[in-house]
Amino acid sequence: MGDGKRTYVVLLGVPGAGKGTQARLLEEKLKLPQISTGDIFRYNLKNQTELGVLAKSYMDQGALVPDEVTIRMVEDRLAQPDCAAGAIMDGFPRNLVQAKAFDTMVAPYGGVRVAPLISLDDEEAVRRITGRRVCRTCGAVYHVDFNPSEVAGKCDLDGGELYQRDDDKPETVRHRLYVYYKQTAPLIGYYYAKSILVELDGAQPIESVYEQLVALVDKSS
Ligand code: ADP
Ligand code: AMP
Ligand code: ZN
Repeated sequence: MGDGKRTYVVLLGVPGAGKGTQARLLEEKLKLPQISTGDIFRYNLKNQTELGVLAKSYMDQGALVPDEVTIRMVEDRLAQPDCAAGAIMDGFPRNLVQAKAFDTMVAPYGGVRVAPLISLDDEEAVRRITGRRVCRTCGAVYHVDFNPSEVAGKCDLDGGELYQRDDDKPETVRHRLYVYYKQTAPLIGYYYAKSILVELDGAQPIESVYEQLVALVDKSS
């Protein structure tokens, strides 16, 4: 048995839809941590852990890291004290096996509250991904045209160096979109059947998407 209801939000959308950007904004508003499996893998890679080195071999291909490893990592993360009220899931679950495992993890706390689908067409997603820049220090996400930092190449929050992810190169991006449609898109039906899927237009400015997300999380609680 669990200790009452928690708020688990699962953000869905193609790579580049804006999940990470929104999750970081929502963290403060909802007082819930963002759990980005991609960020955790990148953190491990930066620190050259065994997990990071393993994940890199899949990430470089734009493929999914094996479920067993990913699911165990999320279980560990959810057991941390800062996740006691729930979490904003960004990039997990990414296939049906992960979605079912996640349901089992959160069932004692009322299950997944809401699964917002941030929709965006592929062409725009590619534009966003290829212009994305990430802070080496804190992982904050920028875009060279759509969401630039104040000083080019430097993070607004900590002055950290902004870099382009290896897997944000055009060759890998195409495969990541393919993997999304093949493995992750079935989750749309999965959450729709549970009556917790809500679609919103991801082509709007960051602030408008954010306001809609806040409203729909509020409405779901
Ligand atoms: P995801 O986590 O879904 O892959 P990100 O949050 O990293 O997507 O966003 C991808 C890129 O698009 C980033 O460079 C980000 O700055 C930019 N971006 C995010 N949301 C918007 C938006 N609503 N309008 C324009 N650019 C955006
Ligand atoms: P992201 O930061 O969400 O764009 O993820 C970057 C890469 O990390 C993906 O292309 C995968 O290789 C890996 N990854 C992130 N989340 C998952 C997940 N839930 N399952 C498997 N692989 C993942
Ligand atoms: Zn930073």
